[in-house]
Amino acid sequence: MVNDMKVCDLMTEPRKEWDVELIRNVFPVEIQEKIFAITPQGQFGDDTYTWDFFKTGHYTVKSGYWVQRNIINTSQQQQYVNQPSLDGLYQQIWKLNANPKIHHFLWKCVNNTLPAAANMKRPHISEDGSCIRCSMKGESVNHILFKCPYARLVWAVSPIRAPPNGEWSDSLYANLYRVMNQQDQPESSRADLVPWLLWRIWKNRNEFLFKGIDYSAPSTVDKALEDMEEWIGKNKKEHPEVKKATHNKTRARWKAPPTKWIKCSTDGAWHKDQQRSGVGWISRDEYGRMLWAGVRGFQRLGSRIEVVAEGVKWAIHSMRRLGYKQVIYEIDSLFLAKMINGHAEVWPKLQPIIQEINHTLSENPHYKVVFYSRDGNMAAYRIANEVFLYKIMSLSCILLCRIG
Ligand SMILES: [Zn+2]
Repeated sequence: MVNDMKVCDLMTEPRKEWDVELIRNVFPVEIQEKIFAITPQGQFGDDTYTWDFFKTGHYTVKSGYWVQRNIINTSQQQQYVNQPSLDGLYQQIWKLNANPKIHHFLWKCVNNTLPAAANMKRPHISEDGSCIRCSMKGESVNHILFKCPYARLVWAVSPIRAPPNGEWSDSLYANLYRVMNQQDQPESSRADLVPWLLWRIWKNRNEFLFKGIDYSAPSTVDKALEDMEEWIGKNKKEHPEVKKATHNKTRARWKAPPTKWIKCSTDGAWHKDQQRSGVGWISRDEYGRMLWAGVRGFQRLGSRIEVVAEGVKWAIHSMRRLGYKQVIYEIDSLFLAKMINGHAEVWPKLQPIIQEINHTLSENPHYKVVFYSRDGNMAAYRIANEVFLYKIMSLSCILLCRIG
């Protein structure tokens, strides 16, 4: 019987999701895991291709080269490409919601044409080509932005996740790629700050070099936040439904929804080394009274953003089934909120989930998905992490409870 089966026989009608029970009965555990790691296209999307060796599902020349060398040539096991892609960096810069001067600056960064001492040495403009702060010989753009003790201090006090032990790479592209791809990592609700931070570090270097003015690392981070918020403030009308993190030294707090609305905070728990992930959500009314909460374990999904997307999808389905008509769904991934609201290109890997979310949203005009930083969403975060605490492994293990 198994020999005659097609992939579609393993899916449920009409939702076109994996038939978990059937798959468990038919295949050994290793195969089951491989099947569950693939996200089906769902009932709203057509079959399409995604490139499995880059986290977004896009093909990049760099990752293609990597596959050629590491898989086709050596038949090594599949793994994700952590190599930076210049194409990807250019595309990211192009799409940034930032001032044109920032685009221009980052463009020059990636081209390595900023006037750092090492770049200017060739035309003999700089005398000795050393860093003005730490006297290191051959001051490069990578040194100014990442490796100089001053830059390291700025990154360390910023909300952006630095590499372990602050060990920045010798490759400018690897470092740029790292800081500009923070969406998947926890504690990174300020990923949008990165371009402004890079710009301030560069600007401070010039102020110090030409005017002798020195800014402390914390004041540099504050200044970058101000730059970012000033820009967001100016452009707010264009993106009214995506809430941005506001510059506020106190932690963001949960805010009640408007009268007769429900707020549903959702989050996902994902650990790089764990074989499972979890999603959690909690819904509250205008008085802050908790109504319902859900926690569910998943077989490992590829990245944190996928887990967060699964979380909001499940929360929307649950609230709809419970009959709530006016709901604000909060997620702590700004980038995912942008993709759902049509303000960023959807990653091919996330397309099935986002199509399904958008379909449900289109049927429920008073459902909104907004970004909110995890600081104001700790309850959902803790619920999602219950999956790790209680070792809930099963796909079908769902805990849904009425609290109020
Ligand atoms: Zn230096």
